[in-house]
Amino acid sequence: MHLSEILNHLGEDRELYFNAVSPPVIQSSNFAFPTLDSFRQAFVNELENTVYTRGNNPTVAILRKKLAALERSEDCLVFSSGSAAVTTAVLSQVSAGDHIVCVEAPYSWTKTLLTKFLPRFGVSHTFVDGRDIANIRQAIQPNTKLLYLESPNSLTYELQDLTACAALAKSCGIVTCIDNSYCSPIFQRPIELGIDMVVHSGTKYFNGHSDVVVGVLCSSKSIIQKVFDLEYMTLGGILAPHDAALVIRGLRTLDLRVRRSAESAMKVAQYLEQHPKVLRVLYPGLPSFPQYELARQQMDSAGGLLSVYLNMETIEEVEAWFHRLKRFLLAVSWGGHESLVLPTAGFYKIPGRPDSPQPWNLVRFYIGLEDADWLIEDLEQALAG
Ligand SMILES: *Cc1c(COP(=O)(O)O)cnc(C)c1O
Repeated sequence: MHLSEILNHLGEDRELYFNAVSPPVIQSSNFAFPTLDSFRQAFVNELENTVYTRGNNPTVAILRKKLAALERSEDCLVFSSGSAAVTTAVLSQVSAGDHIVCVEAPYSWTKTLLTKFLPRFGVSHTFVDGRDIANIRQAIQPNTKLLYLESPNSLTYELQDLTACAALAKSCGIVTCIDNSYCSPIFQRPIELGIDMVVHSGTKYFNGHSDVVVGVLCSSKSIIQKVFDLEYMTLGGILAPHDAALVIRGLRTLDLRVRRSAESAMKVAQYLEQHPKVLRVLYPGLPSFPQYELARQQMDSAGGLLSVYLNMETIEEVEAWFHRLKRFLLAVSWGGHESLVLPTAGFYKIPGRPDSPQPWNLVRFYIGLEDADWLIEDLEQALAG
């Protein structure tokens, strides 16, 4: 299906609601039935029929259809956060005694799920450097049930060969799951490469306006039905109808926003790469990126996030540089309209917390929708000191 069809029309049965161009927010927790028979019939399929909003809601259902089509999956569930999507997806695949192979340095709360939460229930894990498929193969045990990927990750952008990972996992009867937040389906569609489950922090590119926290899980009909029947309905981390309507609005411009963000990030990366105050730029779209060839093979483009190691002698020098920046907001998250800067130095000297394991000269940028040259002007004056 054409991207324009998905973003502008798919799932929107406008004749059901006065031919309104924008779908209504069906702000109702439950749905009534005219007869006992229709009530009984609705329970045959709570995922598709409208019984109760923890299960299904018409506004949320429109969003689910669009997201499933974007990821080329048969179905999709949406959640109140990316973390809820990750946790629900992972929990759905493991029981006590099982083992997960996960890429090194996944998203921070995914790491916490594996290291602090799941061990309480007898689920173990091995972190591997997923840049080499041999490491993944070696880590697989007879009780491994899930291979969890993040390609690229959202700080240093290590990739996994998704086709090879999917083939390896299939040959061992292991389910694969990837966090595809960095690329979005505009630039990478893992299901076409054989991956079983795709999760997203929709807070980032899908919503895109820094005003909704939302998670997404895309997969086959059978996996989604299984997740729905147990983890989705019991954990109950659902997206509210009003938030679903906001995400649908965000999707109208998904293609425009993601491409603009990526094009500007490329310009900024090229600018920073030639600057003497920058030791190294990490960006999968640059030929200098160690896995540039693999990125070209499995991604249509790099995204809007990039990181640099600054060529500075002291953390104080980094702090002074940071305070000269005027056009980037200091904030976590990314994927909105606004450009962001996240210096690792901000994760040093936090009272009661150990310093970041990453060096203090590492800085992540998210490039939003502003004019790239206007952003570069700001970088230029800040780096000049
Ligand atoms: C933000 C993020 C998450 C968590 O999503 P929330 O919507 O914040 O819960 C997971 N993975 C990646 C790569 C992220 O950037």
